[in-house]
Amino acid sequence: MRKLKILVWISCLILLILFLQEEAISIETEEDIFGLNLVRSLGGNSQVRKEVALTFDDAPSPFTKEVLKILDNYGVSATFFLVGSQVEKSPEVARQIVAAGHEIGNHSFSHCWSSDDSVETLVEDIKRAEEAIYRSTGQVPLYFRPPGGMVNDKVKEACGQTGYGILLWWVDSRDWLLTEEEILEKVKKEVKDGAIILFHNLATTVEVLPQVIEDLRREGYKFVTISQLLRY
Ligand SMILES: [Zn+2]
Repeated sequence: MRKLKILVWISCLILLILFLQEEAISIETEEDIFGLNLVRSLGGNSQVRKEVALTFDDAPSPFTKEVLKILDNYGVSATFFLVGSQVEKSPEVARQIVAAGHEIGNHSFSHCWSSDDSVETLVEDIKRAEEAIYRSTGQVPLYFRPPGGMVNDKVKEACGQTGYGILLWWVDSRDWLLTEEEILEKVKKEVKDGAIILFHNLATTVEVLPQVIEDLRREGYKFVTISQLLRY
């Protein structure tokens, strides 16, 4: 009888550990299976300590060179999500991003997606961006970030078909909307180990970036690219 009780306790303990592990995993990943495709959305990596990844969307823009200059001054590596149509307009800036040692991601060709778009339309847009990026940089990105962070079943299916994982973020700077002070406060409040932080290539981004880097460094954070953060 006593043996049985011990056995029941051990079983409960194992179940509890399994449950907690499952919880920990589900916080950081979201997996969906469409046929044979496995699409994973990630906004960070909870397994790392004191590392964050700065990401800059909608590149290249007229402000990208300034962003690059700041990153270079501080010796920071980051990830830029490129829009195919903008890459075609400024291929030299796309090349400059890569030459500076930063990572690049695919952020669609048109940057104009609607929830009414068919999977075929989305697939075509993703591939067109990939071709534009490859033509100008010689690289094929590993990650895709949907325009506006739009994630639905059709986007997941399109990413599955084109072989991309969906990359989002844990911290949204909202640099397209907030004032410099508000951005600094939001990032400082929301940052945590392993976070992917979302910025854009805007005038406000350029203004606030040096202080963001200094604040996070003071907190002991190291800046890495997405691949480094996710340990690829
Ligand atoms: Zn965007």
